[in-house]
Amino acid sequence: MQPSTSSQEGQLETRSLRFFILYASLAAALCVTGGFLGMAYRNRQLIQEEMLNRGRMDFANIVLMRHWNASYGGVYVEKKPGMVSNPFLEHPDITDTTGKVYTLKNPALMTRELSEQLEKNLGYAFHITSLKPLNPANGADPEERKALLAFEQGLTERSWTEQMGDKTFYRYMGPLKTEASCLVCHAKQGYKAGDIRGGISVSFDVHELEKKLRTNLATIVALSLLTTTLLVGSLLLLFRQMVARLREARNQLVTLATTDGLTGLLNRRSILQRLEQEMERTRRHGEPLGCILLDVDFFKQVNDRFGHAAGDEVLRRVARVLKDMTRPYDAVGRFGGEEFLVILPNTDRETLRIVAERLRTGLPEQVQTGEPASPLPITASFGTTVHRAGESTDTFIARADRGMYLAKSHGRNRVEEDEA
Ligand code: GH3
Ligand code: MG
Ligand code: MG
Repeated sequence: MQPSTSSQEGQLETRSLRFFILYASLAAALCVTGGFLGMAYRNRQLIQEEMLNRGRMDFANIVLMRHWNASYGGVYVEKKPGMVSNPFLEHPDITDTTGKVYTLKNPALMTRELSEQLEKNLGYAFHITSLKPLNPANGADPEERKALLAFEQGLTERSWTEQMGDKTFYRYMGPLKTEASCLVCHAKQGYKAGDIRGGISVSFDVHELEKKLRTNLATIVALSLLTTTLLVGSLLLLFRQMVARLREARNQLVTLATTDGLTGLLNRRSILQRLEQEMERTRRHGEPLGCILLDVDFFKQVNDRFGHAAGDEVLRRVARVLKDMTRPYDAVGRFGGEEFLVILPNTDRETLRIVAERLRTGLPEQVQTGEPASPLPITASFGTTVHRAGESTDTFIARADRGMYLAKSHGRNRVEEDEA
């Protein structure tokens, strides 16, 4: 796995995850807020329905009372002192045989008188009105007028909310149809039975209700914000942990794929990739590139005499010495069993030889095996070479390999250069 490619893939993965987190958080926020607002809307709808039902009921009750009154052609009550007879009736008063006077309360008067009594009560009122009232005091207010005009166009009821002073009223209005009994008074206005003659509006105070609804809405919005924040926060936390774990797993994978398990050095594939990168840099900048291939001498004997584990330990120590004795920007890799490749950027032939000699002498000084009383110093044979312009990786390494075999054939524990 090439490091630059893997880090690009990592960045891409993180970016996609970030997008995913963003969309998931957004979706969660939308769902929660939508759910809460939906609940608030449904609540409001239910209350509106209830208010409409109440308006209808109140209206129906008044119509019922009027029917009762009309079914008797109006009712007479004893005319007490100070009582004014209905001025819109031709003969409102009658006198009985004892001389007692009775005055007629027709449906319209009864409705008005009831409404006048009611208005003294807080929060509820009704009003009988018409576009052409017999009694000018019964004229329609602007909203009632709108309703009456709409009734003439066929609308069967109208409800609305209206601010009156510092109070909010829910108002409901239904039409009054002309019945035969009404014609006694209203025929002269040109009404026929079935005509819309006016309407009755009922109004009740919903100020407190509206206030409670607003408080409810504020609570719901606050709750939705809190839930959304908690949800999105938890999601972000979860995803952050996921990203961190993913990064860790990716790094472990990259390490596994690029390093040698025994020595921790770059493995064969990685050191070759690094060599290609350095060759490319050399091509661009023209700096010399050195390479050392070394093979531990008589390593098979180490295994045979002291065991495979001791052999492994020797390989680990050789790797450590090679790392310690080279510069941080040199690359050291395990090329095969007991073969190592060292790449030295910006290193000419002479310097390369000096470095290789230093490694050669340093190795037996620092790596020994066997009994502490009679330790066996570990040596290696070194092949060195400097990259030639246009040379391929294979040729470059083959020349280092030839140098190394030359060192073996000249007696081992030597540094040789392939001159071919
Ligand atoms: P020469 O000086 O000619 O290089 O002789 P040599 O014994 O070093 O070379 P040879 O190729 O004969 O033997 C190399 C041995 O290295 C053979 C193999 O079992 C051993 N070897 C390869 N990889 C490992 C490893 O990871 N651990 C251990 N302990 N031994 C290994
Ligand atoms: Mg070998
Ligand atoms: Mg060997």
